[in-house]
Amino acid sequence: MAKFADVIIDITHESVDRPFQYRIPEGLKDQIYTGCQVEVPFGRGNHLRSGYVVGLTDQPEYDPEKLKSIAGIKAQSVSAETQLIQMAWWMKERYGCTMNQALNTVLPVKQQVRQKEERWIRCLMDQETLAAQIRLAETKKYRARERLLKSFLETEVLPYGMAMTQLNLTRAALKPLEDQGLISVDSRLVYRDPVQDISESREKLSSGELVDLNDEQKAAVSGILAQYRQGIQKTFLLYGITGSGKTEVYLELIRQVAGEGKQVIVLIPEIALTYQTVLRFTRQFGGKVSFIHSRLSQGERYDQFERAKKGEIQIMIGPRSALFTPFSNLGLIIIDEEHEQAYKSEVTPRYHAREAAEYRAGQSGAFVVLGSATPSLETYTKALQGVYGYFKLSRRAKKNSILPRVQVVDMRQELKEGNRSVFSRPLRQLMEEKLEQGQQIMLFLNRRGYSRFLSCRSCGEAIKCPHCDVTLTLHQNGRLVCHYCGYQIRRPDCCPSCHSPYLAPFGAGTEKVEALVKEEFPQARVLRMDLDTTAKKGGHQTILAAFGGREADILIGTQMIVKGHDFPGVTLVGILAADLSLYAPDYRCGERTFQLLTQAAGRAGRDQLNGDVVIQTYSPDHYCIQTAAAQDYEAFYEKEMEYRRMLHYPPVCVMMTLLIGGTSEEAVDSAMKIAFEAVQTAPEIQTVGPVNAPIYKLNDIYRKILYMKSENYDILIKIRNQVESVLIHRGLNRQVGVQFDFL
Ligand code: ADP
Ligand code: ZN
Ligand code: ZN
Repeated sequence: MAKFADVIIDITHESVDRPFQYRIPEGLKDQIYTGCQVEVPFGRGNHLRSGYVVGLTDQPEYDPEKLKSIAGIKAQSVSAETQLIQMAWWMKERYGCTMNQALNTVLPVKQQVRQKEERWIRCLMDQETLAAQIRLAETKKYRARERLLKSFLETEVLPYGMAMTQLNLTRAALKPLEDQGLISVDSRLVYRDPVQDISESREKLSSGELVDLNDEQKAAVSGILAQYRQGIQKTFLLYGITGSGKTEVYLELIRQVAGEGKQVIVLIPEIALTYQTVLRFTRQFGGKVSFIHSRLSQGERYDQFERAKKGEIQIMIGPRSALFTPFSNLGLIIIDEEHEQAYKSEVTPRYHAREAAEYRAGQSGAFVVLGSATPSLETYTKALQGVYGYFKLSRRAKKNSILPRVQVVDMRQELKEGNRSVFSRPLRQLMEEKLEQGQQIMLFLNRRGYSRFLSCRSCGEAIKCPHCDVTLTLHQNGRLVCHYCGYQIRRPDCCPSCHSPYLAPFGAGTEKVEALVKEEFPQARVLRMDLDTTAKKGGHQTILAAFGGREADILIGTQMIVKGHDFPGVTLVGILAADLSLYAPDYRCGERTFQLLTQAAGRAGRDQLNGDVVIQTYSPDHYCIQTAAAQDYEAFYEKEMEYRRMLHYPPVCVMMTLLIGGTSEEAVDSAMKIAFEAVQTAPEIQTVGPVNAPIYKLNDIYRKILYMKSENYDILIKIRNQVESVLIHRGLNRQVGVQFDFL
């Protein structure tokens, strides 16, 4: 039993940074736990204040005689704060960070900002007036107003902030409509009885506004709810091909869970958190739903969290940080596109939203639903093992919508036959046809790993490490280096396999592609979407809206264009260089390539028109390309698992990395040596390295990496703690930075 407790006094303040230590009185010893709410004497007057225990210890930081004692415990609290503080503790233990870092991640920070009011735009028109207004806006070419009015076809209320940024509206566009009494801007949505709301949306169901779920969707909903109602707290995988109606399943689950008065968190990758998505949720749940996204300021985010705490909203949608919404009676967490990399935090604590969601759900008996058309190998493995419940949607949900025809084009053959263009002949021909028919085209350039490896344009081989089966990375000094084992060679003059001199850091950028499209298809109207063109606020959405509104024939872009957007007019998707992500120095590159190709292919023919997909590649026989072309996830999974088993990569084991960095090469070396020795004392751990980091010297910091693999998470956590204490013991933690990460 610990003798002392660290207590934070006011958790909504930036001073969560500073816990105060208190003595735990004998009588309270077995009742104090991390996260519990206590009363403590504070300040000079020793007034009683309430606080939260964030840590327990036997080692007082100050003279124990001078420490005050905890005065009492507030009744066993399961408040949202308690849950979040416990979650911080779990993060600290699991991912290795300080309690302060963890607290700052999970607790909302209040800033001294002007409190912004939540505002809504409400449509006051009946259907006929609305239709007339839309025609008027169309003829007068009031584009912004038209976008707004069309949104009202789908919902009665729109969140103001979201509408302004996403629809690119201005106050001036609203004013005339407001003056005519056609719309109103309400500063707050009247809070309605949740149960009544639910029954209202039920009525909408019968009036045909909601879709009738098909058999597979129904089976998923009832199967999941049956287990939930039996009190089985579980994670479920909803595996459904693109367009199979996963979102409709989410909506029904939310309706049921919210109907019982519980709260719901929906995680969506930021990039897919578009206006369309928001609409689908507000249409169903109106004022009970709120959104956070990265464009919100700290203060705005805080406000949303406050509303959640007060019970004004019941459903929170957002990227991974929405997990920290202070709901105290959570019933359901949904993670859409669960395979997305964005769910893994890139800053300390480097938590994975999937794991954190399962922990958070466990605190209040909620269940977790993971949805994807291309589940991560981890998740699918658990589903097959029965650890996760598993439901499948195997067909597209819309009538007459079928999966597109996919053809794989061998670019080596194109080159052999004299075609050096970035467009293969089959792709060019299809482009011409679609343009003639007035249909839309998306050209996708997979830019991951762009220009960082060498490949042969004659035989298609990328130059690989002889020991590791990853491509060698081209460094600026012209050397090719293996980032897994450190093997390196000078950049060769010709291909090691076929001796062709056409060896190049492969790939054209989107800008180049745009120029080429304009040159070869001068009649086409072209839009480009990449980091450059979307840099300004709302840029992303403006481009998508323009393309959705048929203001262009061809959309060229990177990853951004393939995620979750639904363009009924698109009947051709061209994937220009499928290999670009295939040979990245990362054991997950096959998985990522398959996901990207499948998603890109899923963009074609979403509606009634048949879709075509052309995959251009130098590795037409690679299993990732083959299985993506066949849109066969199961086949991909089998092959990829073979590879993971053979090379002993996750999910066959757990992999942890230790990165040590410092300005002195010597210090980094010796710290790594000591860490390595400590690791080797654990026989259950397999190590690779230490090696230099992919970018060895970064900002004058030298970095080395050690890879550790084990079947068992806990063994790795134990080793991590051991390494940390050895480094601290030797005083090395002052000279180098140490960072652990689970890959
Ligand atoms: P996913 O989330 O799996 O990509 P969505 O839920 O977005 O799929 O559904 C794809 C399209 O099919 C949407 O336009 C949706 O409205 C429609 N849809 C979904 N379920 C049904 C259904 N049961 N009947 C008719 N249309 C449906
Ligand atoms: Zn070659
Ligand atoms: Zn190697």
